Amino acid sequence: LMQIYRPLNFIGFVYRELRQGLTDIEEMFKLLDQNPEIEDKPDAQPLAITGPVIRFDNVTFHYDEERPILKGVSFEVPAGKTVAIVGPTGAGKSTISRLLYRFYDVTGGSITIDGQDLRDVTQSSLRSAIGMVPQDTVLFNDTIGYNIQYGRPGASDEEVRAAAAMAQVGPFIEALPRAYDTPVGERGLKLSGGEKQRVAIARTILKAPSILILDEATSALDTKTERDIQSALDVVSKNRTTVVIAHRLSTVVNADEILVLRDGVVAERGNHVALLAHDGLYAQMWSRQREATEAEEKLLETANDP
Ligand code: ADP
Repeated sequence: LMQIYRPLNFIGFVYRELRQGLTDIEEMFKLLDQNPEIEDKPDAQPLAITGPVIRFDNVTFHYDEERPILKGVSFEVPAGKTVAIVGPTGAGKSTISRLLYRFYDVTGGSITIDGQDLRDVTQSSLRSAIGMVPQDTVLFNDTIGYNIQYGRPGASDEEVRAAAAMAQVGPFIEALPRAYDTPVGERGLKLSGGEKQRVAIARTILKAPSILILDEATSALDTKTERDIQSALDVVSKNRTTVVIAHRLSTVVNADEILVLRDGVVAERGNHVALLAHDGLYAQMWSRQREATEAEEKLLETANDP
């Protein structure tokens, strides 16, 4: 009987997610991929937001029992503030964003938003409170206007244009012959990673969530693209409680607090100035990244010389 029950249960899960109107199709795929076993408690309540203040309290987590990923992580994101998480690849940074979105439940400790444990609230209310700007946004095979409007179905053309302008992608779209009616995706216009990320930001501006999770793309961006994305991020994260998985210097410098994650624990924490003064892992990462950026700029300058 279990053999029949499991797939049926799974289809039910897909259906529920669709009905709850998940804003990103790729988020749904991630969910399907990852963990259909997360279920609402029978007495789950909708998340009531006042701050919102996010708290990780001694959080432990593993995907496989033999291999702990987070070994007691504690931090708080005060209402409207930005916390950046940095650290080596594989340190568990994205895992923190997945736990906050409740793709998985913690294996120890707790995560709360305004005092409510994520395991006690409905997933639909949690996910409608959170805007996620993933590393790589998958676009629908539809117009670019539709792809932005998806953040809030029913938004007017004017609202879509305003969101695109705030996300620094407006001029790019308006320069296309068919502007907002330009088809994108597999069968349409191909957008660069930086453009896609700004479309995702425009979507999120329309959704206007109270909590924001940003997973920055690791790929190197040219200085102008980086600046455009940074100003788009400044708009979308202003006065929102924001967790950013950070790879770019510009985001890290402006964060209210930076957590350096290593081997499943927070190895260092503080703002940029304090962490540089501390002269530890963060200071090392910073000088390495700066050297790389400077080398790249030199290379570009040489390339541009006639
Ligand atoms: P980071 O974002 O810091 O690069 P992640 O949080 O993505 O790190 O991953 C932390 C560790 O967990 C990595 O070693 C990764 O291989 C492992 N991991 C990530 N996702 C899964 C999964 N679904 N199942 C098993 N292990 C995973």
